Amino acid sequence: MDQALAREALANGAGGILRVDLGALKANYLKLCQLAAPTPVSAVVKADAYGLGVAAATNTLYAAGCRHFFVALTREAFDLRPHLPADAALYVLNGLTPGSEDRAAAAGLIAVLNCPEQLDAWANVARQTGQTLPALLQVDTGMSRLGFMPEDLKALAHAPERLQGVRIDYLMSHLACADEPANPANGQQLEAFERASRLFPETPLCFANSGGLFLGAEYHADLCRPGIALYGAAPHLDRPNPMQSVVALDLAVIQTRNVPAGTRIGYGGTVVTDAPKRLATLSAGYADGLPRRLSDQGAVYFRGVRLPFIGRVSMDSIIIDIDALPEGALKAGDFVELIGPNQSLDAVAEAAGTIAYEILTQLGPRYYRHLIAAEG
Ligand SMILES: *Cc1c(COP(=O)(O)O)cnc(C)c1O
Repeated sequence: MDQALAREALANGAGGILRVDLGALKANYLKLCQLAAPTPVSAVVKADAYGLGVAAATNTLYAAGCRHFFVALTREAFDLRPHLPADAALYVLNGLTPGSEDRAAAAGLIAVLNCPEQLDAWANVARQTGQTLPALLQVDTGMSRLGFMPEDLKALAHAPERLQGVRIDYLMSHLACADEPANPANGQQLEAFERASRLFPETPLCFANSGGLFLGAEYHADLCRPGIALYGAAPHLDRPNPMQSVVALDLAVIQTRNVPAGTRIGYGGTVVTDAPKRLATLSAGYADGLPRRLSDQGAVYFRGVRLPFIGRVSMDSIIIDIDALPEGALKAGDFVELIGPNQSLDAVAEAAGTIAYEILTQLGPRYYRHLIAAEG
């Protein structure tokens, strides 16, 4: 931990330091581009770029050459659109919310059309305004979440007048099991997508998320659509992670103490010491997005030494067992590593019984956020 940064964070009153390495984000984007080439690669920046900060993330990705951005909600798109250069396309994965279509058209958003009703609403605005409005047409190939059912798509292919005023830039679909390369569902979805695409033979295709991009060229189609790999988590959990880590999280020690045998620790007194113990209390908790499920499961590192969580994770603090360190080695004002070189984001997620997506998107607003600029 950089001492100047640690002092700055404490002087600003923060209990933790979240470092976002925009150079690593850029390197990850370029790596995915290289892997997908000649297919271009978009960036999924929904949920504040998976919690990292959408403004800095999109600036970095745009500078690295990205021209296609995806958010989930119409609201996110309204917020982001004014900050994106005009030649960047912005797509709304969940489809436009009913009643937002006029404003969305005026803002230049690109609707993902997930059902006939969304298509009709978009086509209506096109007719009323005399514009041609851009869209992605999503087909459900086996996830049962969003998109036209294959039979609805077939009906549409036979009634092209319904598309009047709407320009379909891509036919898209989404993989349900791309993080499990051996799962036969991947091949089945690819086949279903190929069948669907025969109904719209001229339309480019958009298919692969992070996991899909690593499944091979047949999944790349005409535009890749990764999110999590950009932000440094492993696209396939059972394989070595080829991505650079983007996020590091260090937490401040606010107190240390020595307790005798028979001492209850934390809410509920769920742990009672069986011998004298040295403890430290950290200034972050579940209100900062550190899951309560990390109680007695999580750990932090200090100078490479693992220090386990002990007792329950509180809202604003976590108690750790520091017996593994020499007496006096850890003091109030020191920082310990939760996510960093000793412990990956994926390892923290696994200890919490969840996935990196959830850990990233829950990282709270109380951390001192330090952006490390990308070079060039
Ligand atoms: C979130 C999302 C993505 C990105 O998925 P990752 O697994 O983060 O790469 C792509 N497409 C759709 C439809 C999504 O919802």
